[in-house]
Amino acid sequence: MAESEFRGGVDAQWARVRGRLRAEYGEAAYKSWLKPLTFKSMEGGLVRLSAPTRFMRDWVANHYADRIRTFWTGENSGVRAIDILVESTRDAAAGKLKAKAEREQAPDTSEPEQDGRSNFSAPLDPRFTFENYVVGKPNELAHAAARRVAESSTVPFNPLFLYSGVGLGKTHLMHAIAWHIKKRDPARRVIYLSAEKFMYQFIRALRFKDTVAFKEQFRSVDVLMIDDVQFISGKESTQEEFFHTFNALVDQNRQIVISADKSPSDLEGLEERLRSRLGWGLVADIHPTSYELRLGILQSKAESMGVQPIPAKVMEFLAHKITSNVRELEGALNRIVAHATLIGRSITLETTQEVLHDLLRANDRRVTIEEIQKRVAEHFNIRISDMHSARRARAVARPRQVAMYLAKQLTARSLPEIGRKFGGRDHTTVMHAVRKVEELRATDSGFSDDVELLRRMLEG
Ligand code: ADP
Ligand code: MG
Repeated sequence: MAESEFRGGVDAQWARVRGRLRAEYGEAAYKSWLKPLTFKSMEGGLVRLSAPTRFMRDWVANHYADRIRTFWTGENSGVRAIDILVESTRDAAAGKLKAKAEREQAPDTSEPEQDGRSNFSAPLDPRFTFENYVVGKPNELAHAAARRVAESSTVPFNPLFLYSGVGLGKTHLMHAIAWHIKKRDPARRVIYLSAEKFMYQFIRALRFKDTVAFKEQFRSVDVLMIDDVQFISGKESTQEEFFHTFNALVDQNRQIVISADKSPSDLEGLEERLRSRLGWGLVADIHPTSYELRLGILQSKAESMGVQPIPAKVMEFLAHKITSNVRELEGALNRIVAHATLIGRSITLETTQEVLHDLLRANDRRVTIEEIQKRVAEHFNIRISDMHSARRARAVARPRQVAMYLAKQLTARSLPEIGRKFGGRDHTTVMHAVRKVEELRATDSGFSDDVELLRRMLEG
């Protein structure tokens, strides 16, 4: 086969691969990350692409390389691996001149990296959009506030302050705001970065005596988003600079969005004036996920992965067991899907338990007997002391039996241990309680629902 014909074939493959990437990831991500890639060579199943910066190379390698390979293998079964090199656009342009290869749609090498004005901004994850964000009770306020900020052309509240524990969707919401604004109004300047990056840039500017440019960059944006602001606790000069940037932007009526792992009043190591400023706008927290939200997220992820149908039992099991955060939940789903794909078997409850046994153990929440007693007492409106008392009236005896039953179900305690925690009762009393509750659950569905509700609450 003539060399030129072969090249033409490969170029056509690359064009089709790019088309599929574009369809899958959307225009914005395609333009930022995939379009700047240049095809270099194909040899013995290895495809070489180049990216204009090291940073872009790393990002593409982490986020897209697998997909590129999959698509390419679909085009040409000989392709085994993708390698991405770094080549500055200038080198690439020179190389291209030399090679004089007239390819269709040569990458636009005059385009500077992303948009030159906001080069402080960190890359946005193409998956973190509002479309991909599942809304439930625990996150509805944060989500509504983020939407408001993204959709309004004025500044609804300043700052929007989002906080939660890890892996509950703060970064996702911030990226979603940025994507939405960029799409709606590409002229608006949005900077998103972590507080850590902010500090790093600031120190760099100090070192290179370039603080004027630094200030200009940050003070000329329309929307500034700083993620994980707890990072600058105790870092005084960074806080100082951040405080001034913050004030300058608020004065010009520019939108600020902040995230942290705690509320402004609980953030330690922050100067008082900054702390109080952070609480001026809308403070919205994302609560730990509920069972319903976890199930919703799993369904949405499974759908977007486009894999074999996952049995409802398995989804419910995961939603029930992986309660720590959404990142772990996603990780669990990815693992069982990868496992099933790899060994070519369907997903069942058994394989799920097998594949995830380490994760499941870590997520076994340690419910204490004291917690159970407290919740059950609250639920039936009796005193906690009645859990230990000798009173035998039905109104207290029944809740006590329910608490014993739940203690048996939800903790690893033995019957005698449980008995001791209930006012030093005998293990046979506990056994009797467990049987009694089981019996009642089988005959009285209202009672059974009550117990089930308690169990869910306790399992978080
Ligand atoms: P945080 O910044 O609060 O630590 P992230 O935003 O990084 O959490 O979220 C962790 C992972 O969970 C991400 O992959 C994100 O897409 C996913 N995630 C979190 N909340 C949701 C949600 N409500 N719907 C869909 N995905 C979510
Ligand atoms: Mg985050």
